[in-house]
Formats: sequence, structure tokens, C-alpha cells
Amino acid sequence: ATLEKLRTGDVEDETETLRRLLDDRFDLEGATEDYASGAEQAVEQRAYDLVDEVLASFESLAAVNSDLSPLALFTRAFDGVPIRVPQRAAGGHVEVMGLLDARMRSFEKVFLVGLTSEHFPVTPERPAFFEEMTDAHPRFDTGDERLRGRYLFATLLANVDELTITTPETGDDESAVVRSPVLDELQRVTGIEPEDGVDDRVGSREDLQRHVAATADRRAAVSRAGDRGDLSPKQTKRTDRGLHCADNRGTAGLSEHDGVLEPGTVDEVYPLSEREPYSASRIERYVECGFKFYADEVLGIEDPDDVEVVPTPLETGSYVHDVLERFFADLQDETEDGVDLTEFNWDDLATHLREIAVDELREADFEYDGLFYERWKAELFAGLGDGVSAPYEAGSKPHDAPEQGLFATFLDNELSRDGAGRPHLFEAPFGEGLPDSDAGPFTVERPDGSTVSIRGYIDRVDVSQGGEQPTLTLYDYKTGRAPYMTKTTGGTKFQLPIYLLAAAEVVDGDLFEQGSLSATYYQVRPPNDLKVPRGVESKFDSEAELRRFLNDVVPEWLGQIDEAIGNGRFHTTLLSARGANCRFCDYRRACDVRHHRKREFVDEVHEDDAAYVPLRVRDDEDIEAVMSDD
Ligand code: SF4
Repeated sequence: ATLEKLRTGDVEDETETLRRLLDDRFDLEGATEDYASGAEQAVEQRAYDLVDEVLASFESLAAVNSDLSPLALFTRAFDGVPIRVPQRAAGGHVEVMGLLDARMRSFEKVFLVGLTSEHFPVTPERPAFFEEMTDAHPRFDTGDERLRGRYLFATLLANVDELTITTPETGDDESAVVRSPVLDELQRVTGIEPEDGVDDRVGSREDLQRHVAATADRRAAVSRAGDRGDLSPKQTKRTDRGLHCADNRGTAGLSEHDGVLEPGTVDEVYPLSEREPYSASRIERYVECGFKFYADEVLGIEDPDDVEVVPTPLETGSYVHDVLERFFADLQDETEDGVDLTEFNWDDLATHLREIAVDELREADFEYDGLFYERWKAELFAGLGDGVSAPYEAGSKPHDAPEQGLFATFLDNELSRDGAGRPHLFEAPFGEGLPDSDAGPFTVERPDGSTVSIRGYIDRVDVSQGGEQPTLTLYDYKTGRAPYMTKTTGGTKFQLPIYLLAAAEVVDGDLFEQGSLSATYYQVRPPNDLKVPRGVESKFDSEAELRRFLNDVVPEWLGQIDEAIGNGRFHTTLLSARGANCRFCDYRRACDVRHHRKREFVDEVHEDDAAYVPLRVRDDEDIEAVMSDD
């Protein structure tokens, strides 16, 4: 009831009410004095003083008429008042932040950079998909965003002692840029004329930097500037380190700034016990980019988590793998010799597959909901049995489910495949230390007798006993696009040859020795993009050639990779920027992966005996043959 009067009473009385409330009822003054921590007490004390100041300002306003209620006046008065606590000096550092983070803070000195019409105030572009939603509610109106930008700018102006605003004269490509219209407005109301051009006073800091930049030996120039006292010892050291790093990164050779470590350091940060046994995918990730591998695997730096609305590619892959494994494994319990799907009718198989898929979804360690997740599920389940028990909501346009989702298409595909091969083994483990297997170590031996230890699971092994010679076909499911086989023969992909080598351990008796070998990807890409490309064996003229590749070439490459890791070769990728997916990499700003530079880099690394250079990127190899189907 006391507060209710803030809406209707007059400002003089209500200022008094508020004071009474804070002092008598809450005893804020006493409470701040009892504060435990000194730093927080200082903030609270300052806040309390501010409240006092603001309320006092109303006393002098008593004579001024206003239509606004006391509550509205108080809200305006308190909104955006910064609490300036005397701060420790910033320790010689400059804090870099966005406008939003600067909100409600006060500063002594601020540089606001890059105020161009393109960047400020920003007009957000929303995908057409959200148009309906944007139109439906004024809060999504793009105009608001501009107003908010202006508001933030205004509060910043009010909270700094000294502000320097800069706009560049030209953009990246020397094109002229247009300064933000906010600045025109500011200039109009303040009459402050902008300064342009560069600071070319002799002896100014810019002058020094320009001269250092123009010298041939910049490090020597910086050192002299340090000796003369133009740069402080700290500045000299930091600039020298920066120049040294830029020098090394700017030349094609390998240096300590290109991710090269001493073997002794590798032993400490990534010891053998952690490295081995390798998995095929870890080897592939190293070959894709040593530097990213080092950051991810050795330093354990994790990618920042994106907010996902559907399962990530990794989660989708692992879920689909689990479903397909159980689908066959459960059927196999009832048959003796591999799984013959033609013995079942389509509806029974569909029910079986759906039950397993629903069950696995319940067990999965991810949780999502919402429209996009319904669509994700629809892309897997559509067409798999009756709609009533479908585990997704079949929405209306534009979210129509496809007629056939991944699982139904998979079933059709399996039933229509000719050939006598029958699925025999699923997620067959090899190598030691896997959670659900007690298999012994699995190693591949290089021609020089050294070994590399590996472990993993083979997604699926089909066996055909029909013809003169049994055939062993290995499949690796891919929920993304299946890689070209030339990546395997070119030394950048290793899953298929490793699984072929490991098959000797997981299949019975002489099958591996006497059978004809085949290994390929099985692309199961939602919603219904299924493909089984010709296997790696198609890249060889004969079975003997394939076996030579498996027994001699692949172990040699794996050995070189193991050695390269042990010798600390964690340099950036030797593949093309596309091949290494640099576009999606968080380190892309630090890497120069331009084409012409790459050629020199590969040549330099090739000279280094300790590094692994995939056949695919070597100049001296028959690249036509290696790349023939790309
Ligand atoms: S941007 Fe490319 S080269 Fe650089 S770390 Fe990432 S993947 Fe490697």
C-alpha cells in the first residue's frame, strides 16, 4: 500500500516515502556498513550514496510541474546511472569490448573504433524463414535494433571522461567507406570538427611505427628504439616477440611458431601411453591438420559449444550407428549364418527397426525438443510404419516430412541389394582397451619392424560364401558424405585400410587369407541420401596389389605418422583449405592457407624427414593417378 502511492501521489511526498522506506524499514546505511567483503562494501556504499544524491535532486525539482507519476520519474532518474567506484589502475592494459559490454560502466578514456555506416548502427538481417515471426511482433522489428544501438551509444557518451571516435578512410580493398550517420548528427549538435589524415608529427608513436615498418630488419629497429627509450622495455619485448612470430609464420619453413615441438616436449605433453593405441579417426584428424590436432588432442582446447537445436553431426552419426548395429545384431540372434533379410517381410522389418530406433532415441545422451528436432526425427523415421506411432510430429508446410526417411530408405536399399553377401559382424571391436571388449592389442608392422598400435570398431562385415572364392566386404557407415576413395590411396584417409587389416583378427579362420577383400563406405545421410560407392579394391588392378598396399604401404604411412607426432610435427595443414575444412576452424585467422603459399609450404615440409607428407599433396607423384576420380 505504501508503494502504491508512488503511482498516484505527488513527487515531494513520495520522495520522502522512499527515503523512509530505505532508511527506517531496510536500514540500508547500517546494512552496508556490516558488509563482509571490502570490495563489495565499497560498491554498496557508493550505490547508497548515489540513491541519496538522486533523491536529493528531486527536492530541488519540487517546484517543477510534471505529468509523470513519481514512479515514472524515479524510474527515469535511476535508469542507467552508473556506479563509479574508484578503480585500481588498469595495470597498463586496454580492455577491448563491444558496445553491449560497455553498457552501464564508466570509463576514463575510451576509443570507439570503426564507426562506419555499415557497422553502426547495425541493421540485422534475418533469414526469410523468420519473416513471419518478425512481422508478427513489434519486438522483433529491425528498427528496434537501431534504436538500441543509438541508446547504447548515448549512454556510453554520458559515462566517459574522454572519448575518441575513429572511422577508417578506406576498407579492405582500398574502397572508400561511409562514416556512420550518428557521427553527422553528433557533429551537428556539438559543432566538433573531425580530424582526418594520419598523425605525422615527427617523433609521434605512429611516426615511429611507420618507420619501423619500412625498415628491412624490423627487429633491429625495435631493439634500437628500445635502447633509446622510445619504447619501454616491456613494449620492446612484446613487439620483438610479435615480429619474430610474424617472420616465422610469414615464411614457408617450419619453426617453433608453426607448431613444431621438440620430441622431449612431446614426451611430456603427449606421452606414448596417451597416444597409443590410435584410432583411425584420430590418425585422419592429424593428417587433416597437425595444428588443429595439437590444439584439440594435445592441449585439450575445446571448441566453444554452439547452441544446437538438433543433434550435432557427431550425435546423429553415433545414434544412427547404434540403431543399424542393433537392427542386424538382434536379427542375427535368430539366424545361424549371417542375416538374410529376404526371409522377413517388409512390415515386420520396419516394425523391428522402428522399435529399436525409438528405444535408442530414448537411451541417447542428447535431449532436444522443438520444431527443428521434430523435423530431424521425421527425416529419419518417415515412411517406417504407420503414422500413429511415429515418434515425430508430422507438421504442415514448410515442415512436411519427406515421404521416406533414412531408416525406411535403408531397409529398401538392403532388400534390393543383389549379391550373396550377408551381414555377419556389427561394430566388431579390435585392439585393446575398448570398454566393451577384452580383445588383445592390435598392431601394424612397418617394413623396418617397428609397430603402431591401433584400436577401433568395424561397423559391419558382410561375408559371401557363394562363388569359388568367399568375399569379405567391410562397410563404414557415414551419416555425412562418403569421402572419395582416392583419399585412401592418397594417404589422407585410413579407416578402410585399417579395418581391412584388422579384419584378419575379427573374422573366423582362413576367411581373411583366402577370401577376396573389399571395403567401402556406406553413406546413410538423412533424409534419404544412400550410396555405396565402389570399394577401395576398385583402385587396384588385382587382389595381390590391394594386399601389397595393405601390408607394405599402409603400415609405412602409419609409421611415418606416428613418428611425425612423436617428433612434434604439429604444423598447419598440407591439404587444401577446403580439404582441411579451414572455413569451419576456429584458428583460421592465424593460418595462411592461400593456395600459392601452400605450394611452397608443402615443398618445405617435404624436405623435413620427420614430417608426414601425404602422397596426395606431393608434387613428384603422379597426381593424375592419385586424384583420378575427384
Ligand atoms: S585454419 Fe586450417 S590450417 Fe589453420 S589450424 Fe585450422 S584447419 Fe589447420
